[in-house]
Amino acid sequence: TPLKNIRNFSIVAHIDHGKSTLADRLIQFTGGLTVREMKSQVLDSMELERERGITIKAQTVRLNYTAKDGETYVLNLIDTPGHVDFTYEVSRSLSACEGALLVVDASQGVEAQTLANVYQAIDVDLEIVPVLNKVDLPAADVDRVKAQIEDVIGIDSSEALEISAKTGVGVDEVLEAIVTRLPAPSGDAEAPLKALLVDSWYDAYLGVVVLVRVIDGTMKKGMRIRMMGAEAVYTIDQVGVSTPKKTPVAELGPGEIGYLTASIKEVADTSVGDTITDDRRPTTEILSGFKPSVPVVFCGIFPVDANDFEDLRAAMGKLRLNDASFEFEMETSAALGFGFRCGFLGLLHLEIIRERLEREFNLDLITTAPSVVYNIHQTDGSMVELHNPADMPDPVRIDHIEEPWIKATIMAPDEYLGGILKLCEERRGIQQNLTYAGTRAMLVYELPLNEVVFDFYDRLKSVSQGYASFDYQITDYRPGNLVKMQVLVNDEPVDALSIVVHSDKAQNRGRAMCEKLKDLIPRHMFKIPIQAAIGGRVIARETISAMRKDVTAKCYGGDASRKRKLLDKQKAGKKKMRQFGRVEIPQEAFIKALKID
Ligand code: GDP
Ligand code: MG
Repeated sequence: TPLKNIRNFSIVAHIDHGKSTLADRLIQFTGGLTVREMKSQVLDSMELERERGITIKAQTVRLNYTAKDGETYVLNLIDTPGHVDFTYEVSRSLSACEGALLVVDASQGVEAQTLANVYQAIDVDLEIVPVLNKVDLPAADVDRVKAQIEDVIGIDSSEALEISAKTGVGVDEVLEAIVTRLPAPSGDAEAPLKALLVDSWYDAYLGVVVLVRVIDGTMKKGMRIRMMGAEAVYTIDQVGVSTPKKTPVAELGPGEIGYLTASIKEVADTSVGDTITDDRRPTTEILSGFKPSVPVVFCGIFPVDANDFEDLRAAMGKLRLNDASFEFEMETSAALGFGFRCGFLGLLHLEIIRERLEREFNLDLITTAPSVVYNIHQTDGSMVELHNPADMPDPVRIDHIEEPWIKATIMAPDEYLGGILKLCEERRGIQQNLTYAGTRAMLVYELPLNEVVFDFYDRLKSVSQGYASFDYQITDYRPGNLVKMQVLVNDEPVDALSIVVHSDKAQNRGRAMCEKLKDLIPRHMFKIPIQAAIGGRVIARETISAMRKDVTAKCYGGDASRKRKLLDKQKAGKKKMRQFGRVEIPQEAFIKALKID
């Protein structure tokens, strides 16, 4: 395809503003799939992605479109993830494009992730076409949202398209705008091969599949390619495009987006952002690439049944094949036995991995409190990264501790502002900015990630009745007055319940955790003290009183079948329990004990 007939674009939007629906419509209007193949939201392929309406891996689809000028164009649509945990993945997808459709729900207006995503698109110099979606809704307010796009984002919205991805109204104009308003790629077919590694994933039939954007030169089957950063050489087995069915093609030229396979064993060998070149005739220019995505949230994952440990290891290995940003290494816990310390891009990422492990691999798991990475500066001058509160060095060896801080952008109707400010202040936030666009407030706060990682997002949703949107990026590490708090159940420390907390908050958190555990741990035949402690100092205490003997006696009365049922039920319940010395702690206690409310 000649360069002038190629358009590479992404759709950027806040979650639920209609990105997937529009993508489906574009595929349908250009005949990319037959009606039978047209499942709703074809780009969100993973079951969980569909269920939660989120996209995690960049997906791409090539559309053939005959425009009003009579020419046929190749339109490559790269879908990008829409959640805050995956903003890093957005930026690399955008780098493979020349333009972006900015989709804004005309009944909602600009949201925090609209901003975050569109700024990323502006950063990589994309041409942006604003698209107001959901104009079929009675609540759509096109003029207000256009003004907001100009005021808040600062781009011209006078030629914004007005569409309904649901009914199809205006979708033909979107296709014309892609052709007439977005620039064609440039590139030199005669130059040495230079291509960007956009993404990679594991496919059961094809093995590792690499998504590429060719800048210069061409790439075809049999060619020896070199990943310049990874210093690895492979021979191409197949090049192709996704329509979104994987379709082999003879070659991929400049400006094109497609995939390659090359008997690559592991996704980890294909680092996103790497430059791919011809091993025999390499380019001299390495593309600027990306920062690797680093996990920011860590937690322990343990099998409820110790016999499942090997299955858990295998399952994690399989997930990792597809998701190089998920990390895990073996960990042993005095309380929970053998398991893994895992690293994630954020809390949603953590939840998704945990759910996939339980659902797709049928494992019963205990997840410990999520924690961020602390820099521990020791008195001997050395620094260690702490991924697990249980590994905190002896306080006498610690000079000071640094914690990660974020810059958070929150948008919400102004009536909820009071509650949001209070929440941010409670979480040690430092207000940076407060601006208005009509009745919507836009708040910028600096916050310690430690205070956000657990339930900040849930609390934000609840104080704003679901109307606030949130986005963040890590900015720096700052010293903090942090301590390790331990929880002792029946005088035994439960390492999986250790947390790192700001010393001003330790007392309240300790008390809250003890109260929660008192409710979460069932009564036993004996009295159980629950204590929170810093070093050797107890800062909070609760006691679970002993069960009266006749209560159990009563339970076991009655006929045999009822007794059997009770016993079975008990057995099933047992599976979700964990023995600590003489005390049984239910699995849910490990997460629930940490909720702040
Ligand atoms: P995404 O999160 O941006 O991918 O959003 P989706 O495409 O999944 O859409 C979110 C919700 O909005 C879904 O329930 C869609 O059916 C609905 N939706 C999308 N476009 C329109 C539209 O033009 N009009 C109406 N009324 N609903 C829409
Ligand atoms: Mg979607």
